[in-house]
Amino acid sequence: SAILIDGKARAARLRAEVALGVAEIVSVRGRAPGLAVVLVGEDPASSVYVRNKGVATREAGMVSVEHKLPADVGEDALLALVATLNADDAVDGILVQLPLPRHIDADKVIAALDPAKDVDGFHPVNAGRLMIGQPALVPCTPKGCLMLIEEALGDLSGREALVIGRSSIVGKPMAALLTAKSATVTVAHSRTRDLAGHVARAEIVVAAVGIPAMVQGEWLRPGACVIDVGINRVVGADGKGRLVGDVDFASALPRAGWITPVPGGVGPMTIACLLANTLQAARARA
Ligand code: NAD
Repeated sequence: SAILIDGKARAARLRAEVALGVAEIVSVRGRAPGLAVVLVGEDPASSVYVRNKGVATREAGMVSVEHKLPADVGEDALLALVATLNADDAVDGILVQLPLPRHIDADKVIAALDPAKDVDGFHPVNAGRLMIGQPALVPCTPKGCLMLIEEALGDLSGREALVIGRSSIVGKPMAALLTAKSATVTVAHSRTRDLAGHVARAEIVVAAVGIPAMVQGEWLRPGACVIDVGINRVVGADGKGRLVGDVDFASALPRAGWITPVPGGVGPMTIACLLANTLQAARARA
C-alpha cells in the first residue's frame, strides 16, 4: 500500500520556514512583507480562497491587504488599482484572484503586474524565466507539487515523469520544473492518445485535469509517486457533497508507492508556496 504524502505537515514546515524568513527581513528592513490580494465580484469559492490566503499571510507575520471590487468594475479601474499597487513600496506581492468577470481581459491584467511583485507567477516574464532557467516567481501549485515529489523521491534526475494537463497555471510550469530537475517529462492533455500507456511508464504522475477519478489505479506503474492536483466536488451515494481528486484513490492506493490525498495533499502546499513567493519577492526587493 502506498505511503500517504502528508501535504499538511509539509506545508506547516514550509510556513514555519517562511515565518523565520519574515522575522529576519523585519529585523533588516524594519517592515514586514506586504501582500495585496485583489478580489473582483463575490464568487463564493474565490471569496473563501482570498479569506484563507489573508489568514495564512498574517499567521506568517506578513501584512495582508484585501481589495474587494464589485463584479461590474471596469477594466480601466482594475488596471488603475494594479498600477497603484505596483508603485506602492509597502506592497511586495500582488495577487489578482482568478477567474475575473468576462468583461475583463485577465491576460491584460496579469501583464500589467510588476513581474517582481507577481507572486502567482503568471506574468509572461516569470513564465519565460522559468522556461529558460532564470530566477523567477513560480506558480504556487506546481512549486508545491515539486517539493512533495522531491521529499518522496529525492533526486529526480533521469526519472520518467508524466504531467497530465497543460494549463499555464499547473501543467506547463510543472513540466518546466520537472525538466529543470532533469526528469524525462511527458505532457499529456485532452488530445493525448492512450493515456493509460503513458501512465504505465511513469515513475512520477502529476494529474491536473479536473475530471473526478479519471486516472485508474490499474494504469499505474507499481511504486509510482502520484501527485493529485485535482479538486472536484462530487455528490456521493449518500447524497452528500465531497471533494475528490483526478486520480481514483481507492484503486491507486494499493499500487502506488506514494500518493497525495485529496484534500490534504497539494492544496495546503499551494497556500504555503504563496507565502514563500511573497517572502522571495520581498527579499528580492529589499
Ligand atoms: P484546466 O481546466 O485549465 O486544464 C485542464 C487540463 O486537462 C487541460 O490542459 C486539458 O488538456 C487536460 N485534459 C482534459 N481532459 C483530458 C483528458 N481526457 N486526458 C488528458 N488530459 C485532459 O485546469 P487547471 O487549472 O490546470 O486545474 C486542473 C485541476 O487542478 C482542477 O481540478 C483544479 O480545480 C485543480 N487545481 C488545484 C489546485 C490546488 O491548489 N490543489 C490549484 C489549481 C488547480
